[in-house]
Amino acid sequence: MTTTNKKAVFFDRDGTLNVDIAYLHRLEDFVWIEGAKEAIKYVNDKGYLAILVTNQSGVARGFYPEEDIQAVYDWMNAELAKIGAHLDALFYCPHHPQGKILQYTKACNCRKPATGMVDEACCHFHINRVKSFLVGDSDNDMECARRAGLTGIYYDGGNLLTRIKEYL
Ligand SMILES: [Mg+2]
Ligand SMILES: [Zn+2]
Repeated sequence: MTTTNKKAVFFDRDGTLNVDIAYLHRLEDFVWIEGAKEAIKYVNDKGYLAILVTNQSGVARGFYPEEDIQAVYDWMNAELAKIGAHLDALFYCPHHPQGKILQYTKACNCRKPATGMVDEACCHFHINRVKSFLVGDSDNDMECARRAGLTGIYYDGGNLLTRIKEYL
């Protein structure tokens, strides 16, 4: 077996794992999507890496600092640990072309549908794209999957585990 046999499920965050309230950054506002934790556990148990790839332009817009994204991720993993599940890695894009905070205001190559986050993860973990998926609730997610050579799983409500099981 070569390292390139690693496979992954990339998860969008807002609207896919948590109810999208726009610019979520406080733990008390986080509400899991139905079946989301179970979907991550299913992916873990099937031998896939579970990787979060999330656009967080709220940083560029000055709504919250980068540290909040990591804090939410750490909290998610603490919650997931209670059912024996975990996310393997976090990749986020803090940029936006029309931001308020200068250092984050630019056209980048990581904001989905650009593939920068997926590319970095694939390089770091030696992921085989053909065997991998990206699940998300937006056209940008599906476009990112297409450009990155992943199979897109479009989530438009209902139980996320049920949806994932249609593919893997
Ligand atoms: Mg989303
Ligand atoms: Zn970016």
